[in-house]
Amino acid sequence: MEKLLRDDFRLEPASCFVDATCPRYKAIIPAEEDLTPLLPYLNTVSKVVFFDPEEPVLVFKYEGHKVAVRKDDVRISDVRDIEEGKILREKVARFLEEIWKKREEISPSYEPRKLPPALTIYRYLPKSNCGRCGEKTCLAFATRLSMGEANLEDCRPLFEDEAFEEAKIKLQEMLG
Ligand code: SF4
Repeated sequence: MEKLLRDDFRLEPASCFVDATCPRYKAIIPAEEDLTPLLPYLNTVSKVVFFDPEEPVLVFKYEGHKVAVRKDDVRISDVRDIEEGKILREKVARFLEEIWKKREEISPSYEPRKLPPALTIYRYLPKSNCGRCGEKTCLAFATRLSMGEANLEDCRPLFEDEAFEEAKIKLQEMLG
């Protein structure tokens, strides 16, 4: 694997679809080949929030974005536009290729890193299905949180309404 990611990518709406003034996207970059062998090395050296070696999928934090690496593609969260997508594609590709090149110096880790299940997270969300997080339902948002692919801060009611203060603290503890 010399080159890990293809040069082309696409943007898909990810969040704030109910608010036209703050569109955000996820960038989806196809892999040149199977990225599965890279994941245990990434698990050792990156800021991993989720790793399921069975799926396989690994999510790590990179410059304020969440990057999900799967067998066939890489998905970068919270991308503003195509220009930011291009810059991030370049940086993330370089980051992953560096790790792959140095793999003989890295001890691979196959240890899964799990977040609480979606239903446990859902229990503490407002359950209004208002859509402000970019998902149509609170359960869909809980599912993305449980995969490490969403940010709790995107549920604005949780942070704006004091009635949810206790639930917010509980979720912050659960999600680290
Ligand atoms: S913003 Fe919060 S309350 Fe609204 S749908 Fe999303 S998770 Fe549910």
